[in-house]
Amino acid sequence: MARSVLVTGGNRGIGLAIAQAFAAQGDKVAVTHRGSGAPDGLLGVKCDVTDAAQVEAAFQEVEAAHGPVEVLVSNAGITDDTLLLRMSEEQFTRVVDANLTGAYRVARRAAKGMLRQRWGRMVFVSSVVGLSGSAGQVNYAASKAGLVGLARSVARELGSRHITANVVAPGFVATDMTAELPEERKKTILGQVPLGRYAEPSEIAGVVTWLASDAAAYVTGAVIPVDGGLGMGH
Ligand code: NDP
Repeated sequence: MARSVLVTGGNRGIGLAIAQAFAAQGDKVAVTHRGSGAPDGLLGVKCDVTDAAQVEAAFQEVEAAHGPVEVLVSNAGITDDTLLLRMSEEQFTRVVDANLTGAYRVARRAAKGMLRQRWGRMVFVSSVVGLSGSAGQVNYAASKAGLVGLARSVARELGSRHITANVVAPGFVATDMTAELPEERKKTILGQVPLGRYAEPSEIAGVVTWLASDAAAYVTGAVIPVDGGLGMGH
């Protein structure tokens, strides 16, 4: 059965790979974008997740076109790296607002429709650094760790209505986000990955579509690393 899927930040990078994976299995897929539009085959809805009014408008647009969101993938995220002593409060709160409060905004809105249907899947895209920490990423790591508490609380609140909430924690994926990193830093990270390579965005997508599938119906509150072994032990 074709499901109504919404992927935030699904216009590029990991989110796009996730959206395309759902579309390839026949689902009705919408993606948020902040002005770029959406690639062919996907319904683009303009939405900045830091703005509750835009989130509401985007959900209404998706509902009108595809019906209530049955699968929510909260993927939109940003980095703004610097060491703690140099990190301004604005830098901290801006990243948390986009990555964590943004996830709360879309989860809260999606829950309404899922509760009515007594079925839903929420997947939150976190990061290996949410669990391990990362020098220079106090804001980002805090936001990504926060997603674990958010998802697990949602899992407890909504489990009785057949709604699952899980977290995927990617390691290093080659996208625009990581392209910015200095070569030296990339080499160091790669040296710590047992599989010895970066992930393809499609490898994150495979785990996300599985979490939304019937095969994963009994999986909720889980944090699934997709990191080539980088975070083992966390
Ligand atoms: P990209 O920088 O390639 O893409 C980020 C996406 O998030 C874009 O679609 C962007 O939209 C969207 N976005 C950012 N801020 C907002 C906002 N306020 N409202 C709506 N959309 C927003 O990143 P990746 O694809 O690499 O990352 C996707 C997710 O995966 C992020 O949450 C990231 O933290 C996480 N991740 C990435 C890893 C990696 O190695 N790349 C590793 C671990 C986790 P727009 O095009 O409008 O800017």
